[in-house]
Amino acid sequence: MHHPLDDADRTLLVTGAAVAAPGTSLRAEALAVRGGRVVHVGTAEDARAALGGRPDEALDLDGGLVHPGFVDAHCHPVMYGQALAWVDCRPERVPDIETLVTVLTDAARELPAGVPVRGFGYEHRRLAEQRHPTCHDLDRVATDREVYVMNASGHGGVVNSHTLRTCDVTAGTPDPEGGSIGRFTSGEPDGQLWDAACDLLTGPGGVKIGNHGPNFHLSEPDAIMADHLQRAQEVFLAAGVTTVGDAQASRREMETYLRARADGSLRMRVSAYLTSALLDTALDLGVVNGFGDDLFRVQGVKFYADGTLGGWTAYFPDGYAADCCHHGQLYHSAEEYAELVARAHRAGLQTATHAQSPYAIGMVLDAVEKAQADRERPDMRHRIEHSGLPTDEQIARMGRLGVIPVMQPQHHLRTGDGTLTAVGDLGHRYNPAGACLTAGVPVAISSDAPVAPPAPLEAVSAAATRRTVLGTVLGDASLRMPVADGLRAHTESAARALHREHAVGALAPGMLADFVVLESDPLTADPGGLASIGVRETWIGGTRAWSAPGR
Ligand SMILES: [Zn+2]
Repeated sequence: MHHPLDDADRTLLVTGAAVAAPGTSLRAEALAVRGGRVVHVGTAEDARAALGGRPDEALDLDGGLVHPGFVDAHCHPVMYGQALAWVDCRPERVPDIETLVTVLTDAARELPAGVPVRGFGYEHRRLAEQRHPTCHDLDRVATDREVYVMNASGHGGVVNSHTLRTCDVTAGTPDPEGGSIGRFTSGEPDGQLWDAACDLLTGPGGVKIGNHGPNFHLSEPDAIMADHLQRAQEVFLAAGVTTVGDAQASRREMETYLRARADGSLRMRVSAYLTSALLDTALDLGVVNGFGDDLFRVQGVKFYADGTLGGWTAYFPDGYAADCCHHGQLYHSAEEYAELVARAHRAGLQTATHAQSPYAIGMVLDAVEKAQADRERPDMRHRIEHSGLPTDEQIARMGRLGVIPVMQPQHHLRTGDGTLTAVGDLGHRYNPAGACLTAGVPVAISSDAPVAPPAPLEAVSAAATRRTVLGTVLGDASLRMPVADGLRAHTESAARALHREHAVGALAPGMLADFVVLESDPLTADPGGLASIGVRETWIGGTRAWSAPGR
């Protein structure tokens, strides 16, 4: 199918708004585009001349700022679309289990008989009952079809008794390696399925993740998966995000993206990181860094070292401040993990590992150091996802090893107070982007949607102020990342994390013409108020991909 991005000669001239270089105060007057790529940034006269006269299309803006499209280096677009389509069970809407049952029951009434009732986003610590729902709670929604409510962490959730039966989960079912089945004191399953236990939910032909992380890859009919991707894409584009890194792709994601690519409905650029459950497959296929094209590519492999801070599953060998008997979890032993990383590294596959606690971050750095010692490969840019609580010494090691921390400031904005409760004063260091800057380690920032919605200016603001939604300011000024650096972290540095800095993340001759029109200049705004700066339009490859309603 013909895609506008393929139109090799079409020209576009953008005038009427300042054109920004990310993270600097440099501003140009105009942008010239040919065949989806930038050919000139400068005066309007020179830009027009660079196109050889009259452009095919002229975008004459009425003020505002033309900014490079934002790059969200770690998010889960298909899962995000699913979360948007499923019943909203987040704490803002669902304060207790009674409400949870009510919203699911209401949704069940709207669905055809037999269609699963699925919800997303409950947080047990924020439910009035201070516990997970049970299968018996969900049996009040339906007893003749699947009911599943996924925890906000994405690492598991709770099903009704019907689903336990159809998935053959009984008192006799052992916990799989890397997962757990919640149980009543009688030993009967209580409906909770975590991590590898979610493999039981995806059915005989479904995606299996084993001990390689959460399995949120529940499949739905093709048309519904396509709809999920469209819902998510609409929100990313509206937020000014033009390139995403899918931080855990399975067959489900590959099929969804490739179908959308084939029918022309994939409009944002995607770099996928395959779940490490597919490491052998990727190595057998010989897929190495950056297989694909400007619209869709397979970039690397996603690993898990430990769990989440929000779910208290990040790994602290000496226990949590809130509960010294609670340690969290590791997905692999240090030896097994190092071996996995070494195999990817030897083949030239970039790795991206989820690691939150200092212990888990150290495990990643040890593995990368060993892999590099065994086989030196420059510029691999192995990544640490979230990298919530690195020590200063670990940040220095990241610099020496060329490891990129990929942080989510919107997480400390939303859950910084909960993290202080969980890990004590150490939580003040949560996402120490400023310390990384001081050490000369470029940080990429991202949303991890659905954990936070894609909202780049909110993320940049949160990195600059380190103020949580409850008003707590985390740590001292040395941990803050100034707005200019934050903008670079969400464009150039994020592109670098995806090995895409030669194509996206800045507007310069030869780069893809991906840009966003902002209402005003974030560099001259109050850092705490950046989130209120609106996105007017989003352009990808010199083609308008989204514009604000009513414009
Ligand atoms: Zn993630």
